[in-house]
Amino acid sequence: MNKRIPLIAGNWKMNKTVGETVELVTQLKQKLSDVRNREILVCPPFTSLVVAKEVIKNSNIKLGAQNMYFEKSGAFTGEISPLMLKDIGCEYVIIGHSERRQYFGETDESVHKKMRVAFENGLFPIVCVGETLQQREQNETFSVIERQVRIGLTGLTGEEPKILVIAYEPVWAIGTGKTATPQQAEEVHAFIRKLYSEIYGKDAAESVRILYGGSVKPDNFSEIMRQPNIDGGLVGGASLKADDFIKLVRY
Ligand code: PEP
Repeated sequence: MNKRIPLIAGNWKMNKTVGETVELVTQLKQKLSDVRNREILVCPPFTSLVVAKEVIKNSNIKLGAQNMYFEKSGAFTGEISPLMLKDIGCEYVIIGHSERRQYFGETDESVHKKMRVAFENGLFPIVCVGETLQQREQNETFSVIERQVRIGLTGLTGEEPKILVIAYEPVWAIGTGKTATPQQAEEVHAFIRKLYSEIYGKDAAESVRILYGGSVKPDNFSEIMRQPNIDGGLVGGASLKADDFIKLVRY
Protein backbone atom coordinates (compact mmCIF):
# COMPACT_ATOMS: atom_id res chain seq x y z
CA MET A 1 0.00 0.00 0.00
CA ASN A 2 1.21 3.47 -0.84
CA LYS A 3 1.69 5.35 2.45
CA ARG A 4 3.40 8.35 0.93
CA ILE A 5 1.60 11.52 2.03
CA PRO A 6 0.94 13.80 -0.96
CA LEU A 7 2.98 16.99 -0.84
CA ILE A 8 1.62 20.03 -2.65
CA ALA A 9 4.30 22.71 -2.83
CA GLY A 10 3.94 26.22 -4.20
CA ASN A 11 7.06 27.70 -5.79
CA TRP A 12 6.29 31.40 -5.95
CA LYS A 13 9.51 32.18 -7.83
CA MET A 14 10.29 35.96 -7.95
CA ASN A 15 6.74 37.03 -7.18
CA LYS A 16 4.84 38.72 -4.34
CA THR A 17 5.74 41.68 -2.18
CA VAL A 18 5.43 41.44 1.59
CA GLY A 19 1.89 42.83 1.47
CA GLU A 20 0.84 40.42 -1.28
CA THR A 21 2.40 37.56 0.66
CA VAL A 22 0.35 38.33 3.76
CA GLU A 23 -2.80 38.45 1.63
CA LEU A 24 -2.14 35.10 -0.07
CA VAL A 25 -1.02 33.09 2.95
CA THR A 26 -3.85 34.49 5.05
CA GLN A 27 -6.35 33.15 2.54
CA LEU A 28 -4.59 29.79 2.31
CA LYS A 29 -4.48 29.47 6.08
CA GLN A 30 -8.20 30.20 6.42
CA LYS A 31 -9.40 28.06 3.55
CA LEU A 32 -7.16 25.03 4.02
CA SER A 33 -7.39 24.67 7.80
CA ASP A 34 -9.47 21.47 7.60
CA VAL A 35 -7.04 19.60 5.30
CA ARG A 36 -5.44 16.70 7.15
CA ASN A 37 -4.29 14.14 4.59
CA ARG A 38 -1.91 16.38 2.62
CA GLU A 39 1.30 18.19 3.33
CA ILE A 40 0.97 21.81 2.19
CA LEU A 41 4.05 23.92 1.51
CA VAL A 42 4.61 27.47 0.34
CA CYS A 43 7.98 28.70 -0.93
CA PRO A 44 7.86 32.51 -1.15
CA PRO A 45 10.87 34.66 -2.08
CA PHE A 46 13.44 35.27 0.67
CA THR A 47 12.07 38.74 1.46
CA SER A 48 8.66 37.26 2.34
CA LEU A 49 9.72 34.23 4.38
CA VAL A 50 9.60 35.86 7.82
CA VAL A 51 6.20 37.44 7.34
CA ALA A 52 4.80 34.27 5.75
CA LYS A 53 5.96 32.28 8.78
CA GLU A 54 4.31 34.78 11.09
CA VAL A 55 0.95 34.26 9.34
CA ILE A 56 1.08 30.47 8.99
CA LYS A 57 2.40 29.61 12.44
CA ASN A 58 0.12 27.13 14.22
CA SER A 59 -1.45 26.14 10.88
CA ASN A 60 -1.09 23.10 8.63
CA ILE A 61 0.94 25.09 6.07
CA LYS A 62 4.70 24.67 6.03
CA LEU A 63 7.40 27.04 4.86
CA GLY A 64 10.18 26.44 2.36
CA ALA A 65 12.82 28.46 0.52
CA GLN A 66 13.50 28.37 -3.21
CA ASN A 67 17.30 28.15 -2.95
CA MET A 68 20.22 28.52 -0.55
CA TYR A 69 24.02 28.47 -0.58
CA PHE A 70 26.03 25.47 0.57
CA GLU A 71 28.03 27.21 3.31
CA LYS A 72 26.78 28.07 6.80
CA SER A 73 28.18 31.62 6.90
CA GLY A 74 30.99 33.75 5.58
CA ALA A 75 32.06 36.06 2.78
CA PHE A 76 29.50 35.08 0.15
CA THR A 77 27.86 38.37 -0.76
CA GLY A 78 24.24 38.05 -1.70
CA GLU A 79 23.80 34.46 -0.56
CA ILE A 80 21.53 32.92 2.09
CA SER A 81 22.65 30.05 4.30
CA PRO A 82 20.82 26.96 5.56
CA LEU A 83 21.29 28.23 9.15
CA MET A 84 19.43 31.42 8.27
CA LEU A 85 16.56 29.49 6.70
CA LYS A 86 16.29 27.15 9.66
CA ASP A 87 16.42 30.11 12.04
CA ILE A 88 13.30 31.71 10.54
CA GLY A 89 11.27 28.51 10.49
CA CYS A 90 11.82 27.03 7.04
CA GLU A 91 11.41 23.27 6.92
CA TYR A 92 12.04 22.67 3.22
CA VAL A 93 14.34 24.07 0.57
CA ILE A 94 14.03 23.64 -3.20
CA ILE A 95 17.36 22.73 -4.76
CA GLY A 96 18.43 22.67 -8.40
CA HIS A 97 15.27 24.09 -9.96
CA SER A 98 15.74 24.19 -13.73
CA GLU A 99 15.68 27.99 -13.67
CA ARG A 100 18.63 27.89 -11.25
CA ARG A 101 20.42 25.46 -13.55
CA GLN A 102 19.59 27.45 -16.69
CA TYR A 103 20.18 31.05 -15.53
CA PHE A 104 22.46 30.77 -12.51
CA GLY A 105 24.89 28.04 -13.48
CA GLU A 106 23.79 25.33 -11.05
CA THR A 107 25.21 21.91 -11.80
CA ASP A 108 24.60 18.40 -10.52
CA GLU A 109 27.68 18.93 -8.33
CA SER A 110 26.37 22.13 -6.71
CA VAL A 111 22.97 20.49 -6.32
CA HIS A 112 24.63 17.63 -4.50
CA LYS A 113 26.54 19.96 -2.15
CA LYS A 114 23.39 21.93 -1.36
CA MET A 115 21.39 18.78 -0.71
CA ARG A 116 24.05 17.53 1.73
CA VAL A 117 24.19 20.84 3.58
CA ALA A 118 20.40 21.05 3.75
CA PHE A 119 20.23 17.67 5.50
CA GLU A 120 23.13 18.55 7.80
CA ASN A 121 21.23 21.63 8.93
CA GLY A 122 17.86 20.00 9.45
CA LEU A 123 16.15 21.16 6.25
CA PHE A 124 14.29 18.79 3.93
CA PRO A 125 15.60 19.19 0.38
CA ILE A 126 13.31 19.05 -2.64
CA VAL A 127 15.72 18.28 -5.46
CA CYS A 128 14.55 19.06 -9.00
CA VAL A 129 15.44 17.02 -12.06
CA GLY A 130 14.16 17.16 -15.61
CA GLU A 131 15.06 17.18 -19.28
CA THR A 132 14.87 20.01 -21.82
CA LEU A 133 12.74 19.78 -24.96
CA GLN A 134 15.83 19.19 -27.08
CA GLN A 135 16.95 16.35 -24.81
CA ARG A 136 13.49 14.75 -24.99
CA GLU A 137 13.40 15.04 -28.76
CA GLN A 138 16.83 13.42 -28.98
CA ASN A 139 15.67 10.53 -26.79
CA GLU A 140 17.96 11.56 -23.97
CA THR A 141 15.31 11.92 -21.25
CA PHE A 142 16.28 8.83 -19.29
CA SER A 143 20.04 9.33 -19.59
CA VAL A 144 19.73 12.97 -18.45
CA ILE A 145 17.56 12.01 -15.48
CA GLU A 146 19.89 9.15 -14.59
CA ARG A 147 22.88 11.49 -14.55
CA GLN A 148 21.04 14.08 -12.45
CA VAL A 149 19.98 11.41 -9.95
CA ARG A 150 23.29 9.55 -9.78
CA ILE A 151 25.43 12.68 -9.34
CA GLY A 152 23.00 15.03 -7.61
CA LEU A 153 21.52 12.53 -5.18
CA THR A 154 24.61 10.55 -4.32
CA GLY A 155 25.93 9.96 -0.80
CA LEU A 156 22.74 9.85 1.25
CA THR A 157 22.93 7.98 4.56
CA GLY A 158 20.64 6.72 7.33
CA GLU A 159 17.07 7.93 6.92
CA GLU A 160 18.00 10.57 4.35
CA PRO A 161 17.13 8.50 1.25
CA LYS A 162 13.62 8.00 2.65
CA ILE A 163 12.87 11.60 3.55
CA LEU A 164 14.35 13.26 0.49
CA VAL A 165 11.82 14.74 -1.92
CA ILE A 166 12.51 14.64 -5.66
CA ALA A 167 10.64 16.83 -8.14
CA TYR A 168 10.47 15.70 -11.75
CA GLU A 169 9.99 18.84 -13.80
CA PRO A 170 10.35 18.51 -17.55
CA VAL A 171 11.86 21.88 -18.50
CA TRP A 172 9.63 22.13 -21.57
CA ALA A 173 6.55 22.03 -19.34
CA ILE A 174 7.58 24.70 -16.83
CA GLY A 175 5.63 27.91 -17.24
CA THR A 176 4.72 26.99 -20.80
CA GLY A 177 1.16 25.78 -20.29
CA LYS A 178 2.30 22.51 -21.88
CA THR A 179 1.83 19.83 -19.23
CA ALA A 180 3.35 16.38 -19.61
CA THR A 181 0.61 13.82 -20.10
CA PRO A 182 -0.03 11.74 -16.98
CA GLN A 183 1.51 8.81 -18.89
CA GLN A 184 4.64 10.74 -19.85
CA ALA A 185 5.10 11.87 -16.27
CA GLU A 186 4.41 8.43 -14.79
CA GLU A 187 6.94 6.83 -17.12
CA VAL A 188 9.71 9.07 -15.80
CA HIS A 189 8.56 8.83 -12.18
CA ALA A 190 8.61 5.04 -12.38
CA PHE A 191 12.08 5.21 -13.93
CA ILE A 192 13.34 7.44 -11.10
CA ARG A 193 11.88 5.16 -8.43
CA LYS A 194 13.46 2.08 -10.02
CA LEU A 195 16.83 3.79 -10.30
CA TYR A 196 16.54 5.01 -6.72
CA SER A 197 15.81 1.45 -5.63
CA GLU A 198 19.01 0.28 -7.30
CA ILE A 199 20.99 2.96 -5.45
CA TYR A 200 19.30 3.06 -2.04
CA GLY A 201 17.23 -0.12 -1.85
CA LYS A 202 13.56 -0.99 -2.01
CA ASP A 203 12.47 0.59 1.30
CA ALA A 204 13.95 3.95 0.42
CA ALA A 205 12.41 3.81 -3.05
CA GLU A 206 9.00 3.04 -1.55
CA SER A 207 9.27 6.00 0.83
CA VAL A 208 10.81 8.72 -1.31
CA ARG A 209 8.25 11.19 -2.61
CA ILE A 210 8.50 12.19 -6.25
CA LEU A 211 6.56 15.32 -7.15
CA TYR A 212 5.55 16.32 -10.64
CA GLY A 213 6.03 19.92 -11.77
CA GLY A 214 5.28 21.64 -15.07
CA SER A 215 2.14 23.69 -15.78
CA VAL A 216 0.10 21.93 -13.12
CA LYS A 217 -3.41 23.39 -13.02
CA PRO A 218 -6.60 22.53 -11.13
CA ASP A 219 -8.05 20.88 -14.25
CA ASN A 220 -5.15 18.53 -14.96
CA PHE A 221 -3.86 17.69 -11.50
CA SER A 222 -6.27 14.98 -10.34
CA GLU A 223 -5.45 12.82 -13.37
CA ILE A 224 -1.74 13.35 -12.74
CA MET A 225 -2.20 12.39 -9.08
CA ARG A 226 -3.91 9.15 -10.07
CA GLN A 227 -0.57 7.81 -11.33
CA PRO A 228 0.97 5.36 -8.87
CA ASN A 229 4.43 6.92 -8.76
CA ILE A 230 3.37 10.56 -8.51
CA ASP A 231 3.28 11.79 -4.92
CA GLY A 232 2.43 15.46 -5.24
CA GLY A 233 3.12 18.60 -7.19
CA LEU A 234 5.64 21.40 -7.34
CA VAL A 235 3.53 24.24 -8.63
CA GLY A 236 4.67 27.57 -10.05
CA GLY A 237 2.10 29.82 -11.72
CA ALA A 238 -0.98 28.21 -10.18
CA SER A 239 0.41 28.63 -6.65
CA LEU A 240 0.17 32.42 -6.94
CA LYS A 241 -3.63 32.47 -6.88
CA ALA A 242 -5.31 31.34 -3.68
CA ASP A 243 -8.28 29.72 -5.43
CA ASP A 244 -6.11 27.67 -7.79
CA PHE A 245 -3.70 26.51 -5.11
CA ILE A 246 -6.59 25.56 -2.81
CA LYS A 247 -8.11 23.45 -5.60
CA LEU A 248 -4.75 21.78 -6.19
CA VAL A 249 -4.38 20.90 -2.51
CA ARG A 250 -7.89 19.43 -2.59
CA TYR A 251 -7.40 17.71 -5.97
C1 PEP B 1 7.93 25.40 -11.16
O1 PEP B 1 8.25 26.56 -10.99
O2 PEP B 1 8.51 24.53 -10.52
C2 PEP B 1 6.85 25.11 -12.10
C3 PEP B 1 6.54 23.87 -12.32
O3 PEP B 1 6.21 26.17 -12.70
P1 PEP B 1 4.77 26.13 -13.48
O4 PEP B 1 3.83 25.38 -12.58
O5 PEP B 1 4.40 27.58 -13.63
O6 PEP B 1 5.00 25.44 -14.77
